[in-house]
Amino acid sequence: MDLKNYIATIPDFPQAGILFRDITPLMADGEAFAYACNELIDFARQVGAEVVVGPESRGFIFGCPVSSELKIGFVPVRKPGKLPRETVSLKYDLEYGSNELHMHADSIKKGQKVLIIDDLLATGGTVDATIKLVEAMGGEVVGCAFLIELTGLKGREALKGYNVKSLMSYE
Ligand code: IMP
Repeated sequence: MDLKNYIATIPDFPQAGILFRDITPLMADGEAFAYACNELIDFARQVGAEVVVGPESRGFIFGCPVSSELKIGFVPVRKPGKLPRETVSLKYDLEYGSNELHMHADSIKKGQKVLIIDDLLATGGTVDATIKLVEAMGGEVVGCAFLIELTGLKGREALKGYNVKSLMSYE
C-alpha cells in the first residue's frame, strides 16, 4: 500500500512558508490506518520493545495501537501542567521560542527497552528531548519510529546511533 496517497499537504500551515503534512486522511481510512500500525508493530517486535513512549498528541494515536497489540505499556510525553504526579522534564529550543516536555518520574523502569513513536520527524528536537528523559530514568531507547520523515530537516542526524524507522519520507 502506498501510504503517501493518504497524506494531505497543506501550504502555509500553521504559518507562512511551512508545508504541513496532514495525517488525518490516513487515520480516517481504516485499511491505511491498520496498515501503518502493522508496520510499526513489526518494527516494535523487531527491536524487542518493552514499552512505547509517545509525545503528545499524535504520538498517542500511533503509539497506543502498538502497545495494545503487543500487550506492552504506553507512556505519554506531555506539555507542562498535564501530568498529575511528579515529573521529569526538559526544555528545548525551537526555531522561534522553546518547548517543554514532561513524563511521570516513575514511568520507565531501569533497563527497560523503549520504543518512541511519533507521527513525524522534522528537526528531531521533540524526539531528542524524549530520548533524554527516557535515558535520565534509566530506560534504553531501542528504536524511534515515525510515519513521516522530512529528510531536508536532518532529524536523523540528531538521532545518530539510534535505530530510526520511518514509513514515508519527503524532502
Ligand atoms: P521536530 O521536533 O522538529 O522533529 O518536529 C516534530 C514534531 O512536530 C512532531 O511531534 C510533529 O507532530 C510536529 N510536526 C512538525 N511538522 C509537522 C507536519 O508537517 N505535520 C505534522 N506534524 C508536524
